[in-house]
Amino acid sequence: MKTTRTLASVTALSMLTACAVEVPTYSPEKDLAHLWVKNSADYEALTRQVYGVAQRDLERFVADTSWSAMPGQTDAENLPPAVILDIDETVINNVDFQVVFERPFTDRQLEMWDRQHIARPVPGVVEFITAAREAGVTAFFLTNRPCEQYPDEDSACPQKQTVIDGIRELGIPVEPEFVSLALEQPGWQGEKVVRRQHIARDYRIIMLVGDDFADFVPCARNSFYPPCTEPATRASRAADVQKYEQYWGNGWYILPGPMHGSWTSVR
Ligand SMILES: [Mg+2]
Repeated sequence: MKTTRTLASVTALSMLTACAVEVPTYSPEKDLAHLWVKNSADYEALTRQVYGVAQRDLERFVADTSWSAMPGQTDAENLPPAVILDIDETVINNVDFQVVFERPFTDRQLEMWDRQHIARPVPGVVEFITAAREAGVTAFFLTNRPCEQYPDEDSACPQKQTVIDGIRELGIPVEPEFVSLALEQPGWQGEKVVRRQHIARDYRIIMLVGDDFADFVPCARNSFYPPCTEPATRASRAADVQKYEQYWGNGWYILPGPMHGSWTSVR
């Protein structure tokens, strides 16, 4: 009996030890979100699907001058049409950075990685921008990468040229006036609706394209900036999916964003 109990104890201890050894530690190389974006055909099929639908909708929204994808934009019939795109994971595919960067994330790490000029396009974006421009549509690129001066560099916003270079290297010509970063102008903080409203003064916004809920919906982040007055929550975002139901796939085109984004911090 004693021998049996001893054997049972040893077996139980062995199982506990085995369990302890197998406690998972986070590894970006094994992160399913990273692997899916980097390796799956499904990801590319999905981004091409989103951009394909947007491309097919171009003609309809250019022709319908009463249409705006910007809630609240009125009297825009005589303004030239424009599309607004987010940049990271919407235009530039940063999955290779997401796998290798040293946690925690810093904007400077992304800046230095991007200066290596090894980013890839999100599949479908080059074709979409080409088609939009052929249809007479202006493309604006909005990123929340912030302007930040480095002690060893003269430019007040070296990140802007890096972003412009990154977009151009994908095969998308772009001029600086069509690219905006957070903090580039007073009041341009992390809430993109401020910059969307700025563009909407001169253009009819026919489409929004992004990989983050906050690329579309105002005040959708946990960390909030004017004109928002409180943090978004999972519940408020779920309600906003319904509130803006008419736009999804119809003026608003959301790409998959499993690696990072505002969804990771809301509660
Ligand atoms: Mg993005």
